[in-house]
Amino acid sequence: MSPAVKKEPRGYVKVDIEECKGCGLCVDACPPKCLFLAAELSAYGVHPATYTGTGCTACGICFYTCPEPGAITVYRFETPARAAATPAREEDSSYAAAL
Ligand code: SF4
Ligand code: SF4
Repeated sequence: MSPAVKKEPRGYVKVDIEECKGCGLCVDACPPKCLFLAAELSAYGVHPATYTGTGCTACGICFYTCPEPGAITVYRFETPARAAATPAREEDSSYAAAL
């Protein structure tokens, strides 16, 4: 058995509850299971996806799974090493905005 490794979040997500239809596809697709459907209903009568607040790896799978454009946005933390090694590029913001 491998030792437990505590992983730091590599990003986070924001859900626009005006756009989210509560389908749950992102919840099922998220590998570290850091999304859930809120217990409360949105103004549109759906249970919107919600970030648990921890564990996001900024993989972007939820973004690519979501059928509603603009419902979920992934933000990736920029590490100092990566920032030094990689010049900023426009296409990096296709699914994630570097912080
Ligand atoms: S970016 Fe990846 S880890 Fe983060 S919420 Fe989306 S699917 Fe989960
Ligand atoms: S996949 Fe998109 S529309 Fe469906 S619950 Fe997730 S954010 Fe909402």
